Amino acid sequence: MISVEEALEKILSYVNILEEEPVPILDTLGQVLAEDISSSIDIPPLDNAAMDGYAIQAGDTARASSKSPAYLRVIDTVIAGAISEREVKPGTAIRIMTGAPVPKGADSVVRFEDTDEARREKSANNEIGILCKTKAGLNIRRAGEDVIRGSLVLKKGTVIRPAEVGVLASLGKSQVRVIRRPVVAILATGNELVEINQPLPPGKIYNSNTYSVSALVRRYGGIPKLLGIALDSEDSLVAGLRRGLDADMLITSGGVSAGDYDIVKDVLAKEGEISFWTVRMKPGKPLAFGTIKGTDQKGAGRNIPHLRLPGNPVSSMVTFELVARPAIFKMMGKKSLAKPTVEAVIEEPVINTDGRRVYTRAIVARRGDKYYARLTGPQGSGILTSMSLANGLVIVPEDRAEVKAGEIAQVIMLDWNEESSNLATG
Ligand code: AMP
Ligand code: MG
Repeated sequence: MISVEEALEKILSYVNILEEEPVPILDTLGQVLAEDISSSIDIPPLDNAAMDGYAIQAGDTARASSKSPAYLRVIDTVIAGAISEREVKPGTAIRIMTGAPVPKGADSVVRFEDTDEARREKSANNEIGILCKTKAGLNIRRAGEDVIRGSLVLKKGTVIRPAEVGVLASLGKSQVRVIRRPVVAILATGNELVEINQPLPPGKIYNSNTYSVSALVRRYGGIPKLLGIALDSEDSLVAGLRRGLDADMLITSGGVSAGDYDIVKDVLAKEGEISFWTVRMKPGKPLAFGTIKGTDQKGAGRNIPHLRLPGNPVSSMVTFELVARPAIFKMMGKKSLAKPTVEAVIEEPVINTDGRRVYTRAIVARRGDKYYARLTGPQGSGILTSMSLANGLVIVPEDRAEVKAGEIAQVIMLDWNEESSNLATG
């Protein structure tokens, strides 16, 4: 039995960063930029008004006050998107809207609130009283204050978030080169499984792993390819695996426990290679990994990484988080592969009976300056609702028989509270 670290290292050594491709910016969320992005424009392109008001020369307001306004002649109005043909000279002003380019000659913008505009009759709009002293530069956003033309704005390797999508749009980029998303094929195995749109005959259960695992693939940026259910027979398993040979990674669930061991082991040995089988963890001990022989788009031989997750619904999700997620991230070109962890005070004891690393479902909440973790209840690896209650996994190291209440343990955060409003935290 190997450690979780060894298992992860083996898997990562089999997966490679994928190719880059151009993608419309809105579809790149969570992907890694494969090119440096420089700007061909200044942003903003021109000096413009930060407020609705009047573009003036500050010198005209040297003695202005609310009691003794400086009166200026209004020679034009300029709205956002337009450019005034007129020039502001001493004694004149141009009415200006937020975002409109500052007219020639003006050095500041006085906002409406600092003028007597509200008190004026409509007919008297060709003159404006300025009620305070202004200084050059007031309420003007300078050309290039956000981005200077020619500068490097986003570096290759940046993970694209909504802010980067916005920045790319501000540069006028409709698509960018990113590392493509991996296609992850998912095959459930088990004679007891029924598809979720079918009636449930006696003795059967719904296939939930395909859906929890596909949702994880999608959450972490991959493209799930659902291969359905294979029976526990050699033919059915081989047929199922063959449907996934164009994927970047194959994930099967189930068929790794002792009962199914022989058929699956034979099939995997015939169709590819087995790298490891069983990991010193709980849940998830029957996790297995290897490769399956396939072909690439040009027909050349290729080994597809094949992750065999345990069938138990909790085990398949937990092992996915620990080893499949980092593999997907690596393929996507991400550098930071680990899920965030926090140190939390454990509120109930967690027992570790057989020297494996235990991952216990927990509800983590912050109170004051500390995190606290309590268990979700029964920890059986078939209790999928415990995953729905949890936002973290408390780690009990393999050499610890127990973590006592009040002790500190590492907790892998699966979700933060924003994403877990269904948790009764606190
Ligand atoms: P196995 O690893 O095939 O021995 O499965 C272990 C347990 O997980 C059994 O109770 C299976 O019924 C259950 N199981 C296996 N695959 C699935 C699945 N796709 N959805 C829900 N439960 C499953
Ligand atoms: Mg099975």
